Amino acid sequence: MLQKENEISVLIENSRLLSPNGMNEFIRKLSAYYEVYAPIKGEKLVVFEKVENPQDIAWDYETTQISPKKFLHKPFEILFSFEDGGKIINENKDVVEKSQILLGLHPCDVRAIEILDKVFTKRYEDPYYMKRRKNSIIIALTCSDAHEACYCTSFGTGPRIDSGFDLLITTLGGNYLVEIGSARGREILSRYADALSTDSSILMEYHRLKNAKLEIIENKISSKMDTEDIAELLEQNINHPLWENLKEECLACGSCTIVCPTCYCFTIIDKVDLTLKSGERQRVWDSCMLLEFAEVALGVNFRSERAARIKQRVYHKLYSFEHQYYIRGCVGCGRCIRFCLKKIDPRKIIAELRGEPIEQ
Ligand code: SF4
Ligand code: SF4
Repeated sequence: MLQKENEISVLIENSRLLSPNGMNEFIRKLSAYYEVYAPIKGEKLVVFEKVENPQDIAWDYETTQISPKKFLHKPFEILFSFEDGGKIINENKDVVEKSQILLGLHPCDVRAIEILDKVFTKRYEDPYYMKRRKNSIIIALTCSDAHEACYCTSFGTGPRIDSGFDLLITTLGGNYLVEIGSARGREILSRYADALSTDSSILMEYHRLKNAKLEIIENKISSKMDTEDIAELLEQNINHPLWENLKEECLACGSCTIVCPTCYCFTIIDKVDLTLKSGERQRVWDSCMLLEFAEVALGVNFRSERAARIKQRVYHKLYSFEHQYYIRGCVGCGRCIRFCLKKIDPRKIIAELRGEPIEQ
């Protein structure tokens, strides 16, 4: 009983209610001190972009095509330039100095950033990623709906979230319930926001509404991936005929990896001028689904077959990731399904390996 009362008082103490005007004013003030990025309504898609006007924010978006990982692990960046035959100049030129706020991230994208944190710090700390990461404030957003491709509940990566953010916003009845997740979140909220209410009974009512909203979304995510004993399942099915069949479907376009919030592969390109005395080193996103990805010296390619590349992608996400980083490499965001021209679906791949009927 006492424990429950303590939990409620912590919940209330960490909650504020903002009106629509209060939220717009909060974001305007933040924009004066930070680069603020959020899901913005475009002509066809909602895209994470710099906020010019808080009213452009798509509070009820499903998932974006490209995830907010692009602000931490850039699609393209110049790591450094060199001149005079080797003197390094402009190192980290593309790394932001001004702190950035990543606002409106759904729980799956917050969890994906936690996975990237492990990837970029486990063996060697990646200075480019980490500098951006330390300069980033995460303001998460409770989902308002779920797309039929979402399966976050299979991995426990959504739609509920209780850590990994500085602030968490839930839109409810025209107002905004804001929950504090870190000291940094508390500071920006107390400094730049005018709360509509801190009254405990009103806040409790908003938490009740938030729970009801989450239950509706959870019930909507009916399609799941059965992840139990998935490592054993994959070990036993390395030569399953499904992989050869998928080869006929897959276009090897790489879209599934580009949109995935946990894919992190990149290639390094050295551009050197004709005198060989100056140039720059670039880092560019790469994809294990592309033919050239596994090509090594003398033109040998150890994944020249499309079937081998599809298998690599599925096994890395659901099997070897756990050995490398002690975590699964998928957050169930569904982007790889939504944006695959052939609608190749990891849920169906696992169901087929289990010999279960496949929903069409
Ligand atoms: S997006 Fe689809 S077609 Fe393209 S590589 Fe991925 S699985 Fe294959
Ligand atoms: S594998 Fe697909 S569902 Fe899983 S995190 Fe990547 S894009 Fe999302």
